[in-house]
Amino acid sequence: MRWGNPLMAASAPHERARPLAKGSVYPAKDLCSKCGLCDSRWVAYVKNSCAFLEQRFEAMEAAAHGRSRDLDNEEELYFGVQQRMLTARLQQPIEGAQWTGIVSRIGVRALETGLVDAVLCVGQSEHDRFTPVPRLARTPEEVLSARVNKPTLSPNLEVLEQLPGSGIRKLLAIGVGCQIQALRAVQPTLPLDELYVLGLPCVDNVSRAGLQTFLDSTVSSPETVVHYEFMQDFRIHFRHSDGR
Ligand SMILES: Cc1cc2nc3c(=O)[nH]c(=O)nc-3n(C[C@H](O)[C@H](O)[C@H](O)COP(=O)(O)OP(=O)(O)OC[C@H]3O[C@@H](n4cnc5c(N)ncnc54)[C@H](O)[C@@H]3O)c2cc1C
Ligand code: SF4
Repeated sequence: MRWGNPLMAASAPHERARPLAKGSVYPAKDLCSKCGLCDSRWVAYVKNSCAFLEQRFEAMEAAAHGRSRDLDNEEELYFGVQQRMLTARLQQPIEGAQWTGIVSRIGVRALETGLVDAVLCVGQSEHDRFTPVPRLARTPEEVLSARVNKPTLSPNLEVLEQLPGSGIRKLLAIGVGCQIQALRAVQPTLPLDELYVLGLPCVDNVSRAGLQTFLDSTVSSPETVVHYEFMQDFRIHFRHSDGR
């Protein structure tokens, strides 16, 4: 999805701002989802960009899609502005992906076709598969290594700090609602010519410590869980490393 980048003033607010100190109280306080905006100089716009401080769905949908969602259309009511609703899966699944890996594949194709210079995605810590490490992937291999969900709050937008001077002018951002809302809100101030968004649904999320509490209280062997999802049958589906 394209959204033009107007010329910027010589000294925009983010050029005078600094990321907040890690561990400090962020503006949304207890509601903060650690989306990463406040870990970048674009914290300068937090008051009007944070999903938990201000919600401007109608204006933001109109800016991104040319119109707001049709509330009389049930699919748009729940999923937002759309042209066509599809269900799809990869015929050759990517091993180790959350499902078949269609999200990663779209990221790979966006790079391979030259649509974008980089893909914002979430790798994992080398010490813990559930600890997210946001990155600007420049190669298909880097996108693929970010496959599978890290079901914890991920500061995706902290990588905005890496954009200036990176040579990245066209970006595909993969992310969940709170991250994407803040990203879209600051989009006109980013040093980008084009921004594409691949949004993921997210009903709830927790810190890494909260995830451990959740796993310890819901499954008999938390250490073997490699994947889980809140599903449309109102159950939580777990997958374990031993194939269960
Ligand atoms: C935090 C989170 C919660 C979700 N909750 C639900 C849910 O309750 N019900 C449901 O139906 N779907 C949920 N989803 C979406 C669902 O998991 C995706 O549709 C699925 O990942 C796509 O499968 P895939 O095999 O194509 O993904 P893959 O090809 O495996 O790619 C997964 C992508 O997720 C990205 N990612 C990983 N962790 C995070 C993170 N913490 N924040 C942002 N991006 C991340 C990676 O960059 C990667 O590109 C959630 C996704 C996330 C990230
Ligand atoms: S913009 Fe993101 S990091 Fe900042 S307060 Fe809001 S949710 Fe937290």
